[in-house]
Formats: sequence, C-alpha cells, structure tokens
Amino acid sequence: MKQRKIPMRKCVACQEMMPKKELIRVVRTPEGETEIDLRGKKSGRGAYLCGKLSCFKLASKNKALDRALKAPVGADIYRRLEQDFIKSEDEFRAVQAETGDDDE
Ligand SMILES: [Zn+2]
Repeated sequence: MKQRKIPMRKCVACQEMMPKKELIRVVRTPEGETEIDLRGKKSGRGAYLCGKLSCFKLASKNKALDRALKAPVGADIYRRLEQDFIKSEDEFRAVQAETGDDDE
C-alpha cells in the first residue's frame, strides 16, 4: 500500500504544523462573514486552528485570526466563534471519523 501524503497546515495560534483534518478551519467568506467551517469546503480565505479550545483562546488573545484572515475580527465575533467552537467539538470529531478514509 502506498502512503498518500497528508496535507499539513499550520495552526495560527500555536504555529504547529498538523494534518489538515485535525485542524478546524475558520473562514472569511466573500460576504465578509467570519465563521467556522468544519468540513473545509466553504469558499473564502481560511485560517486553521487546532481543535482545542486553548488554541482558540490563544488566537483570540493575540489576534492571530485577524492576521491570518487579513481582516479585523471583532471581539463579538471571537465570542460567537468561541461558542460555535465549543459546540463544534463533538461534530468535529464525528466529521473526522467520517472522513478518516485513506490514511490508515
Ligand atoms: Zn494550535
């Protein structure tokens, strides 16, 4: 069996390279909305975060998302994303399980 190369992305908070599917994508849509994109399919400029609340909090503290998305992310957006992030954790695991097809 040939091992397929795993796409890697960098967490904007802790700067660690991680397999893309272990990261949560935050996207800035063409409409100017900032939202969590669990399936990595939305169009727009994306930034990646570890699926860990600690990294989200770090990104919120040092405005890493603002820099990565090249747009100001307001405090209210960070608050909303944090709620979504917490809610998303279970769904994120489910999506990971569902898409974990070709790397084992
Ligand atoms: Zn991280």
